[in-house]
Amino acid sequence: QLLTRRGLLEQANWTEPQPAVLTLVGLDAFRAINDNVGYGTGDRLLQAVSERLRARLPAPVLMARLGGDEFALLHLAGGESSTQAQIAKAVLALFSTPFSAGADEVMVHASVGVVGGHLRGDDLPEWLRNASIALGEAKRRGLNQCVVFEPSMAEQSKERARLATELRQALEKDQFLVHYQPVIELATGRVSGAEALLRWHSPTRGMVPPGVFIPVAEESDLILALGDWVLRRATRDIAEQLPRLPEGFDLHVNVSARQLIQSDFPAALQQVLATSGLPPQHLTLELTESVLIEGDAVTGQRLARIRALGVKIAIDDFGTGYSSLAYLSRLPFDCVKVDQSFVRNLLDSPQNAAIVTAVLNMSQGFGVTVVAEGVETQAAAQRLREMGCASAQGYWFGRPALLQEMDLSVRSLDGDGKGSPPTPPTPSSAPSTQA
Ligand code: C2E
Ligand code: MG
Ligand code: MG
Repeated sequence: QLLTRRGLLEQANWTEPQPAVLTLVGLDAFRAINDNVGYGTGDRLLQAVSERLRARLPAPVLMARLGGDEFALLHLAGGESSTQAQIAKAVLALFSTPFSAGADEVMVHASVGVVGGHLRGDDLPEWLRNASIALGEAKRRGLNQCVVFEPSMAEQSKERARLATELRQALEKDQFLVHYQPVIELATGRVSGAEALLRWHSPTRGMVPPGVFIPVAEESDLILALGDWVLRRATRDIAEQLPRLPEGFDLHVNVSARQLIQSDFPAALQQVLATSGLPPQHLTLELTESVLIEGDAVTGQRLARIRALGVKIAIDDFGTGYSSLAYLSRLPFDCVKVDQSFVRNLLDSPQNAAIVTAVLNMSQGFGVTVVAEGVETQAAAQRLREMGCASAQGYWFGRPALLQEMDLSVRSLDGDGKGSPPTPPTPSSAPSTQA
């Protein structure tokens, strides 16, 4: 019998501690699956999943459906860690073949969070919380991951909750600012645009890099408010300065998956452009590969609507995701940004040079432009120019800074360094989060 959360808590009424393993199974990206196959088929899929869990696992004493796409299995035996790992592995294995829902065969991925030990009925609410923390950690690690709960995770989870609260207040207290990093056209050395990079100036934490707070914001609707704020601020800043900026100046703004999948995103974007007065041909939205994969069905249409406004699309951190080239080739986009991990050791690593060459060839075939990220030395800049890469961005050309501090002068890639560049090159070991 498939219990509810309440049913599960009621049934777990024993008072003596018993060895037990609690496994939470969360389906990955089930919302996207629902969008793809329709809700009727989505429901049949959930049924198929719950039947497979029941039929193919060592009989759980209790099984419950906790939320839309989350199941709990409580095995009353073997609380030791080997059993926990065994059960988790067995669960993940169930998702290696497709599920049938009516005429459709659909692949469903799952994440698994596990807690084990000796359980009294009264402890179950806490176990559920901990398993849920482990499941959250598993989801953060990607598709098909399994995580066994450790006490340190509870502390990290509290810290994320604190961060989320502070972030919410930070938006009200106007503690965010936008830095801009110039994008350089390699053939001429001129500044062709800039990427807007969000900064949080916290009164207690100091300058917090986006790598720390964006993932937290992405776990809630906070990312929507934040993304909206950046888009408004950056388009307004650039629209105001446009007469003083180099001709054809292109503003790049990072957009998260959560923003893009909002059905009213194109309309909101159009409204932001109208308010700011920035002509759409001066704006490029940067999306990561993972965004494009997750969104799947809606992504193509959504991107097409954005481009119909005259706004360009760039694929950020290119080469770090898992998207197939066949899939990418069907999506409408204008630009790829080669991830800095390939650019950083361009001169020392033949492998990285080969990857960059491949991306350049592919881009030519697709008719899209290329921006290389993370250029930290003159030698790398020159090499990229030789390879035929159109544009680049990196500390050697300029660190992210306030718009009024951005150096707009034409860079000389061939000089002895005098007169350019304004910011000293930094060691390649510097973490990107220090920008
Ligand atoms: P990204 O979009 O790939 O941005 C490039 C990152 O590389 C920036 O880090 C930048 O400061 C850093 N960087 C630039 N040149 C160099 C270099 O020569 N060497 C090294 N080591 N690093 C360099 P930042 O500002 O910390 O941003 C990190 C990530 O946070 C961004 O990666 C982007 O994914 C995300 N992010 C930043 N602002 C926003 C935003 O407004 N919205 C969203 N959704 N994400 C944002
Ligand atoms: Mg970016
Ligand atoms: Mg990037």
